[in-house]
Amino acid sequence: MDERSYKLGSNRSAIRELFEFSKKRKAIVGEENVFDFSLGNPSVAPNPAVNATLIDLLQNEDPCLVHGYTSAQGDAETREAIALDLNKRFGTNYKGNEIYMTCGAAASLVITLKAINDGPDDEVLAIAPFFPEYKLFVESSGAKFKVVPADLESFEINFNALEECVNQNTKAIIVDSPNNPTGVVYSEESLKKLASFLEKKQKEYGHPIYIVCDEPYREIVYDGKAVPHIPSLYDNTIICYSYSKSLSLPGERIGYILVPPKCHESEKLYLAVCGAGRIFGYVCAPSIFQKMVAKCTGLTGDISEYARNRDALYNGLTEIGYECVYPAGAFYLFVKALEDAPAFSERAKQYDLIVVPSDGFGVKGYVRLAYCTKYETIVNSMPRFKALFDSYK
Ligand code: PLP
Repeated sequence: MDERSYKLGSNRSAIRELFEFSKKRKAIVGEENVFDFSLGNPSVAPNPAVNATLIDLLQNEDPCLVHGYTSAQGDAETREAIALDLNKRFGTNYKGNEIYMTCGAAASLVITLKAINDGPDDEVLAIAPFFPEYKLFVESSGAKFKVVPADLESFEINFNALEECVNQNTKAIIVDSPNNPTGVVYSEESLKKLASFLEKKQKEYGHPIYIVCDEPYREIVYDGKAVPHIPSLYDNTIICYSYSKSLSLPGERIGYILVPPKCHESEKLYLAVCGAGRIFGYVCAPSIFQKMVAKCTGLTGDISEYARNRDALYNGLTEIGYECVYPAGAFYLFVKALEDAPAFSERAKQYDLIVVPSDGFGVKGYVRLAYCTKYETIVNSMPRFKALFDSYK
């Protein structure tokens, strides 16, 4: 038996552990008395066009096509529609044959990492704080996972730390913006600085260093903030996208990889992506959801609901006295713990507040609150957060 797989299967992630705890507490004290901020499960309904399109496909299209295999890289029509939408939004000139349909961001990432890494000395960097599964995804591609320590002032990219982490073996850096767990959207200035730093390093080492751009939260931004399109700033960028958050479809498993034509040996890299998809046995992305995406590109759920939640949670907690990172996107708030983060999360449980300690995200001393919840959950949780705060006085 593979011991590593066994260990992974038997140790639930901290987030899942908390989610299970919250389910048990809800059964005892009632759903409305548990304030669960653990899981990034969208609370906004999918855009109504999603279900309407699915119903139309089911009622009016050939069922053998709707439910059948598609090409391994995805339906041509879907990939063309995505390319057109990206071109409209970002002023690019992508083609459908640069897109590979996947089962969400997790699949996009494992496939991309497998496609670019080719030896045990390869290293892939993640900027702390980061989505905890990255470690697993990188290691499963055979590469070493390396953390760029956080910039604890801005939670943007810590360039001094990055300088120390990059070496001859660096194959890629994962960039996740809007960020899980901080909600920070990296500024264009930071990303340009990253691009020129990597250009320099690529020249120095004589091989490409990819930005693997994990952007499931690309459309979830507030205050009119724009998310820079990284391939327009740096040629060797691969986009890993998912509809899990923008269309609120995490259970349906649909997303894509974009290998832009400016990437080093882009056609070969695209074929390596196709090969990696085969290795993992993905076969093809869910057919009916591909066909729906072809008709719903560019749509989202009602993001203003998240903005309302963000304001209620951020304003409420800062008024009580908590220190929070201001989130310009995604649906997470990063809050300074009042003691060691796991101990703080444990104490919060006594108030039926479920918050995730930051240790798994590669930073100590914070907790993550997912505010993709009902608005009432946030409003009603405030007295509990106040009591928790006061318990430290
Ligand atoms: N990347 C980040 C930053 C995430 O937050 C998540 C899910 O929460 C994923 C990837 C995985 O997303 P998906 O459900 O599309 O696989």
